[in-house]
Amino acid sequence: MLQEAIKAFEEAIGREYTLTSDAQLERYHYSTIPVLRVIDAVLLPNSVRDVQEIVKIANDFKISLYPISTGNNWGYGSANPVRGHNVIVDLSRMNRIIEVNRELAYAVIEPGVTQHQLYEYLHKHRTGLMMDPTGSGPSCSVLGNTVERGYGISPYGDHFAYVSGMEVVLANGEVLRTSFGHYENAKATHTFKWGVGPYLDGIFTQSNFGIVTKIGIWLMPEPEHFEACYFSCDNESDLGPLIDAVRWLLLNNVIRSSVNLVHRNRVLTMLSRYPWKEMSGKAPLDDEVSKSIARTKKVGAWNGVGALYGTKEEVRAAKKVIRRTLRGEVARLNFVSDKALLLLERFQGLFGLLLGMNIPEMLRVLKPSHGILRGKPSEVSLASPYWRAKKTPPAKDINPAKDNCGLIWFSPVVPMTRENAEEFISIIQPIFARHGFEPCITFTTVTPRAFDCTLPILYDKDDPDETKRANACYEELLSECMKAGYIPYRFGIQSMAELTGRKDVFWDVVERLKDALDPGGILSPGRYSR
Ligand code: ADP
Repeated sequence: MLQEAIKAFEEAIGREYTLTSDAQLERYHYSTIPVLRVIDAVLLPNSVRDVQEIVKIANDFKISLYPISTGNNWGYGSANPVRGHNVIVDLSRMNRIIEVNRELAYAVIEPGVTQHQLYEYLHKHRTGLMMDPTGSGPSCSVLGNTVERGYGISPYGDHFAYVSGMEVVLANGEVLRTSFGHYENAKATHTFKWGVGPYLDGIFTQSNFGIVTKIGIWLMPEPEHFEACYFSCDNESDLGPLIDAVRWLLLNNVIRSSVNLVHRNRVLTMLSRYPWKEMSGKAPLDDEVSKSIARTKKVGAWNGVGALYGTKEEVRAAKKVIRRTLRGEVARLNFVSDKALLLLERFQGLFGLLLGMNIPEMLRVLKPSHGILRGKPSEVSLASPYWRAKKTPPAKDINPAKDNCGLIWFSPVVPMTRENAEEFISIIQPIFARHGFEPCITFTTVTPRAFDCTLPILYDKDDPDETKRANACYEELLSECMKAGYIPYRFGIQSMAELTGRKDVFWDVVERLKDALDPGGILSPGRYSR
């Protein structure tokens, strides 16, 4: 059956775009999580018509398809499907930026458009518009992240919230267009996301109901003025009051970006490798060693990042309120404008002497982070997966999956109160310690009322014992946090069954929708479904 299907795929989209040899399939197996799936073949369509043909053949021959955009999905399974024996539909050749509307500030893009590609386009064509990049780096797909409901940090950080108009190839080969896109000559498809009638877009995110071939995304006009905001506290116990202050600033619209509250350990993973020497070859990282390294690098116990976008007057006013609100809660608070960053760069030596700081090292992280807040994708966060690995990240084009680094993402949502954050930390801390890892927490404000806590389990994937412990650590985190009510916003391919395999009306309804839209079950079996 598979061989016949492959022949049909070759006829439909071309032999060179139907990959079957081990050498061709190798890179689709790269993963930072300890899971490997059998992949039967990879198809590289170039158009919606190609995708329709593929779907029709898959129905005829009962083949399971697994669509990916760029297939990085680091820490959640990369390009590996949820179940074995799928044919991957790699949409990376469909990488056209179909439209950028400067006046109405939106773009229409295909799945293969990477963050780098969109950034470069907006920049080169002086559109005056900015995108919201995730920390996953320049090579990742904008659409792939959006259908997983990923997020960045600018005011347009909730990616799916800024989608208007989708195009989806359904499991029967039909093409569905949302918003007003299904009406001929519709004018407002990419400016009015709700269209008319039931709002269907949501069911094509975190699901297996269709192959998304186009989305309209809203872009932010470059602000007249921008300043990044950095603050830090010296003690771990300062987190509670800091949360109260940050929540107030967000609920009252003083800050419109997200705010990241980053624990010392997490910052260290971005700045350096695991300190094997200081730890005499032992793990997990000892608190005293962590604190002492942090001191030398001027890293606080909790480190905050946010940004102000607006007119000069707005930014000035917001800075005043932030200073007033954070005054008692943080040890350091700095605003960094583009101009300040330029000066710091130009007069590194002088500032180093004056401030007694290692400015070049500081700039190594500050500059790319500033870039991300300004809409420029960067690889600055991609060093973390190399933390425990006995190898260093390359200077550019970092691909932790290809380098077999160990990273499992665990990302539960925590209501933005000190009680919830403290309870959450008290659950996860002993679990990390029990399995021999250090918690590297970031709390990101995904709404003014909730954090998403991104917790990487960073391990040496070349070490079988450590890999086993990393897996056990993840399983225990998931089970204990689910019990306590802290549910991840997104799941890796290894735990879909745990998510959906319970008695639950919600997943019953999802199952009924799946039966209606994909009765043959050909699309991404098991992905956010039973
Ligand atoms: P990235 O490379 O940006 O991390 P991926 O391409 O790996 O993103 O996408 C993440 C996940 O989202 C994939 O594993 C896949 O299940 C799903 N996905 C990605 N693109 C599509 C698409 N165009 N249609 C349907 N599902 C998709």
